[in-house]
Amino acid sequence: MKELHNVNVAMRTLARELLESGTVAGVYGWKKGSRPTLTSPLYIQDAAKADRLAYDQYAVSNLSALLLDHRNNDKKRAIFVKGCDSRGVVRLLQDQQITPEQVLVIGLPCPGMVDEAGSLLTKCAECRFPNPVMADQVLGGVEVSKQPSAPTGVTAEAARKVGVGSRAGERMAQVAQLEGKTAAEKEAYWAEQHDKCIRCYACRNVCPACNCRDCIFDTEKKGWVSKAATSSANAFFAITRAMHVAGRCVDCGECERVCPMDIPIMTVNRKLQQDIEALFGPYDAGVDETVVPPLGRYQTDDPEEFL
Ligand code: SF4
Ligand code: SF4
Ligand code: SF4
Repeated sequence: MKELHNVNVAMRTLARELLESGTVAGVYGWKKGSRPTLTSPLYIQDAAKADRLAYDQYAVSNLSALLLDHRNNDKKRAIFVKGCDSRGVVRLLQDQQITPEQVLVIGLPCPGMVDEAGSLLTKCAECRFPNPVMADQVLGGVEVSKQPSAPTGVTAEAARKVGVGSRAGERMAQVAQLEGKTAAEKEAYWAEQHDKCIRCYACRNVCPACNCRDCIFDTEKKGWVSKAATSSANAFFAITRAMHVAGRCVDCGECERVCPMDIPIMTVNRKLQQDIEALFGPYDAGVDETVVPPLGRYQTDDPEEFL
């Protein structure tokens, strides 16, 4: 894609300038991996390495959680963002994990990311905010927007396979399917899913909303949580993770994408999104920094009967 070629040139030039001038201490972007269909995160501190930056339709990783590595360091870092990365940055700013002075956000156009076969990824087919929702500057003429839209610029082949723009409305389809089951059927379904979990914590580590400084699942104190990958301990982990990101999950789909056991983590996240919207009204986490998450504010007319 010619547009992305131009974006790559602009990315490398900008990163080089930012590092040479000392404007930032480091730059987060992506690089080509060991296969043509692999584009993985890259962090550079040396301007001479700017030419390693690469952005294409395989740059699926959400980089925002990587900023947590520097939350105790005042130096500014630049980060290139698609829509989902930018929502992660908003999450970190709202959670006061980083300050605006610590980050320079550079928005990029997102065509929607594809797998090795060229098919649009599920998370991208269902994406509602492919454009950066915030940025200090942009490349590739992308518009900063808090309005929902579909990814643009996907290949005609990928668009044919998945019907681009038609699946954002189906984000809750899996939730609806499970809602139709009996309690016993739901229990059996989730037990089967949780039994698969190997407690690798990839879902936690990739998540911008899972940003507690001390995770309860890392505690060395006895009697808090079991680290064993048993069915009940795994269920406890899954429910704890889901409740910790409830109302704060930015819907980037990374947790499910990186899960090596194909556990449908987004189904739980979206069930919570649905319930929160039913109780508190429409809300998209990580889109508008000025809107306090529903579970982060208290109102006397909150729909909680026990209050
Ligand atoms: S989830 Fe949206 S913003 Fe993120 S890579 Fe996919 S289409 Fe782009
Ligand atoms: S990524 Fe999947 S297997 Fe790993 S801890 Fe999370 S749910 Fe379990
Ligand atoms: S819970 Fe999953 S979808 Fe939500 S912000 Fe974290 S990684 Fe993204």
